[in-house]
Parts: sequence; C-alpha cells; structure tokens
Amino acid sequence: MDKQMHYGSDYKFIPTTSIGSGVGMAVLPDIYQHTIQIVNISLVGNPDSNEFVLVDAGMPGSAEEIISVTEERFGAGSRPQAIILTHGHFDHVGAIIELVNHWDVPVYAHTLEIPYLTGQKGYPDPDPTVEGGMVAKMSPMFPNEPINLGDNIKVLPTDGIVPHLPEFRYIHTPGHSPGHVSLFRDRDRALIVGDAFVTVKQESLYKVLTQEKEISGPPRYLTTDWDAARDSVKKLEALQPSVAVTGHGLPMTGAELTDNLTKLARDFDSIAVPHYGKYVN
Ligand SMILES: [Zn+2]
Ligand SMILES: [Zn+2]
Repeated sequence: MDKQMHYGSDYKFIPTTSIGSGVGMAVLPDIYQHTIQIVNISLVGNPDSNEFVLVDAGMPGSAEEIISVTEERFGAGSRPQAIILTHGHFDHVGAIIELVNHWDVPVYAHTLEIPYLTGQKGYPDPDPTVEGGMVAKMSPMFPNEPINLGDNIKVLPTDGIVPHLPEFRYIHTPGHSPGHVSLFRDRDRALIVGDAFVTVKQESLYKVLTQEKEISGPPRYLTTDWDAARDSVKKLEALQPSVAVTGHGLPMTGAELTDNLTKLARDFDSIAVPHYGKYVN
C-alpha cells in the first residue's frame, strides 16, 4: 500500500443497507449507476470503449465490488482514466485508497474539498440531533476523520473542465460540503448531482432501506451551510436537467424530475432545511 495514503483513524465498515444494494442500472447508455449499501457510484463512458471515469468511491470496504462492477461493464482488467469525487464524505471515498492502489489512476476534487482529502481538515461532526430519522441518529458512528490521498489527489481545473469527460462541466454546488461539485452535460442535460440534492429521504432508515423515491435536499446530518445548499439547488434547477443521478436514491428523469426539482427549489426551506439541529439558525 502507498504509504502516503491513509484513511482516518475512525475508518470502518458501516452496517447499513438498502434494497438497492448491489443493484446496477444503465441510466443512459453511457451512465451506469451502481448502489453500494446506501450510496451510489457512477461509471461514465461507453461500455464498448475503454475511456471512462468513475464518479465517487463508495462505502468503506467496497473496493472489490467496485472493481468487479467495473470489469463486468468494461471488460476484464479495465480501469477508469480517473476518479472524480463529488465531495469527500466517508460514503463517497470509502474504497478510494484500495482503488487508487489497484488502478493507479488520478483522483480529482474541487479545490475547496482538498483539505479534507489530504489529512489537513476534518468535516464538522455529523449532527445526530438534527430533525430527521434513524440514520441521523446513527451518524456519530460514521467515519469523520480526514483521509489523506497524498499526491494522488488533484485539483479540478478552475474553468469547469472535467478531466476525461470533455462533454461535461462541473458545477460548484457547496452547502453539503464546501467543495461539493455536480457534473452536467449540456447535450442531453444529464446531471450527476452528488449529494446537492438526493431522491431518498436519507435521514430515514426506513426510506433508505426501501429507497422510496422522494426528492430531498442534501442529507441533513452532514449539511452545515443551508444558505449555500439552497443556492446550489437553485443553480441546478436552472440547468433544467432531463435526468439526475444522485448520491443516494434512484435516478429521476423527465417530468417527475422537473416537477420535483422545481418544488424543491421553490420550497427549499420547508422541504430540505431541518426545523432544528445544530447547523440551523
Ligand atoms: Zn455527503
Ligand atoms: Zn452521501
């Protein structure tokens, strides 16, 4: 293992799941979403080429699953050209070190997320008291110490360019985390959201388990800047995406997406912002 890289000292497997765990689907011919326990990863690129990237890196302990899903789709021995992180929360970087060691590929994140990925800064503690459900109450057990990817982590270019995805641009969507990004493709208005909004009520253990579709703001227990989060949802709504792949929950498309996203942007304070919690004022 690369000595430069290490997870935080509280890194561990989290025993939680959903009925979607282990399930994959081609949302578009070149966007494949796969669910690991409660979080999604995406493989972006045509399966008949070897040019593709991985967006986000799953839960702790999921490297073997991610590698086998990748090889099933792109062929034995295939590897992405890069890994793009929407942000650095534990459920999006859970297998990153094993993946980098196995594939030897660069990882990209927004410049404001870099301190959390180079061991310099930890995210604020998750808020177990936030209005919500059982997952929020479980959140103190989530790994929160910063990981260190050493010089394997690279800064996304400042002009919105997404390395190896020429048709996409990244949109800075802070609030859930300072350097959170979403990826947007103008040609077909495909949006890879990350956690700027999600399609499952992530705080509720029951809804996470059943993956009942319901548009929701960013997961509450880890969101610390609700004003920025509101602006980010408005920014994404203005893009009028035709399909949204979110960090948690099932993909949403067409009128269902338009209606729900319009509603979320309009009524963000009542739908997304918790009525109480330590990051609400
Ligand atoms: Zn997150
Ligand atoms: Zn997440």
